[in-house]
Amino acid sequence: SALTASEIREAFLKFFEERAHRRVPSSSLVPANDPTLLFTNAGMVQFKDVFTGRERRDYSRATTSQKCVRAGGKHNDLDNVGYTARHHTFFEMLGNFSFGDYFKADAIAYGWEFVTKTLGLSTERLAITVFNGEDGIPWDEEAFELWVKQGVSRDRIYKLGKKDNFWAMGDTGPCGPCSEIHYHQGDDIPCVEEAAGNKCLGVACDCDRWLEIWNLVFMQFERKEKDAPLIPLPKPSIDTGAGLERIASVVQGKRSNYDTDLFQQLIARVVEISGKPYAQETGASHRVIADHGRAAAFLIADGVQPSNEGRGYVLRRIMRRAIRHGTLLDVDQLFFFKVVDRVIELMGDAYPELRESRPFILKVAEHEEESFRRTLNRGMKMIEDNVARMKQASEKLMSGADVFLLHGTYGFPWDLTQIILKEHGLDADIPGFEEELKKEAERGKGGDLNKEKAIGDIYLKLLEKLGPTEFLGYEGEGHEGEGS
Ligand code: ATP
Ligand code: MG
Ligand code: MG
Ligand code: MG
Repeated sequence: SALTASEIREAFLKFFEERAHRRVPSSSLVPANDPTLLFTNAGMVQFKDVFTGRERRDYSRATTSQKCVRAGGKHNDLDNVGYTARHHTFFEMLGNFSFGDYFKADAIAYGWEFVTKTLGLSTERLAITVFNGEDGIPWDEEAFELWVKQGVSRDRIYKLGKKDNFWAMGDTGPCGPCSEIHYHQGDDIPCVEEAAGNKCLGVACDCDRWLEIWNLVFMQFERKEKDAPLIPLPKPSIDTGAGLERIASVVQGKRSNYDTDLFQQLIARVVEISGKPYAQETGASHRVIADHGRAAAFLIADGVQPSNEGRGYVLRRIMRRAIRHGTLLDVDQLFFFKVVDRVIELMGDAYPELRESRPFILKVAEHEEESFRRTLNRGMKMIEDNVARMKQASEKLMSGADVFLLHGTYGFPWDLTQIILKEHGLDADIPGFEEELKKEAERGKGGDLNKEKAIGDIYLKLLEKLGPTEFLGYEGEGHEGEGS
């Protein structure tokens, strides 16, 4: 039977260990010494300074299974989660690295050997991309010929532009072309381009027909200053990344990461909790909850706590998004910590930090759900009371002070308050609210309308999904015949 995800992880690390790579533990999801990066989002992050030569290690080859989160900043897959078969907020990136040691020829040979021999994937289903050349940077003929040398047929090697096949650390620093390994999952899978009346773009398409499983970056240039010409690096390096969940999916013959052993038991837990069966077509909420349960467990274990700014805010969004999807499955009791607990159970062997912080992780998850649900209920109650009073007094505008009270006492975003009022033919005095915010800022507490609006997004989306009536918890008012 097919390899489990744990077996694949181990097979990968062992494969590269046998080829003189040092097995290095995953670094924290909170990048060390890099306030500009929200979360670790690739295997190379912990080696940044090694690639630039600022830091030395006693090894020149490494292999890792790196915890990654892509839920903010440059790589933000949060909104994809639940709706593509391949994107997660939290995932594990397998990687092999050469710090000025081997280069393209070995990286390509290793990659092809692992995929076709160790994993036994059929070459029939594989395709390769190489850099096409753009902006005066030459096309990667060297990589093309090296893939051919491995036995890849020429018509299975596609040339793509900078967007997909050129990597740079930033405006300055090391950069270079890359090659991606793609796996064909089937042309009967729905395609976003075809749905829009266009042709499927094949390996370059955003659809799930061709799945990118591995990216091999060839760091061979350096840019000393922004927009300066590229100069060749004296000792080129290798950085690769393969998503464990995607590899597991193709190895296990599935078309979705969520059908692999990594997710099956988590989804089963969501089914248990909600009593709602799981199916590909209707399972977006199950997937979101499973995915976000993993992200929350790992982020909290690495010291992130829900808050209203920075990393903590992203965590809060992730958790509240999951809880919201719980309400879509009609779960009206605290449940998120139960999903998180299953994550700890399932992943605790590979990542002992989960077990070590289990009580803490569960507390944080439970607490966040309590406060989120309390906020929603209380804020809604206050708005309802206000609406009733305003209607009786024939008032049209909720005062800035009341909007401010809702905001301050119940953490209720002004934009949501306004939307709900509008459904009753009423409105809110937003300039008046801004005045109140300003007064608060003068009192030294700070207040930022834009930030509040951002926080409001999640409530808005909740409102969108549930519809105003359900969201407000109204009973028996014009529900008949709506059919949900
Ligand atoms: P995609 O084009 O599918 O969004 P990517 O090109 O953004 O992927 P890379 O930055 O090249 O991905 O990351 C290396 C590998 O990590 C990918 O080949 C893929 O296997 C995996 N990966 C990337 N993003 C995700 C994600 N959000 N969830 C799961 N795996 C991912
Ligand atoms: Mg991406
Ligand atoms: Mg890509
Ligand atoms: Mg890629």
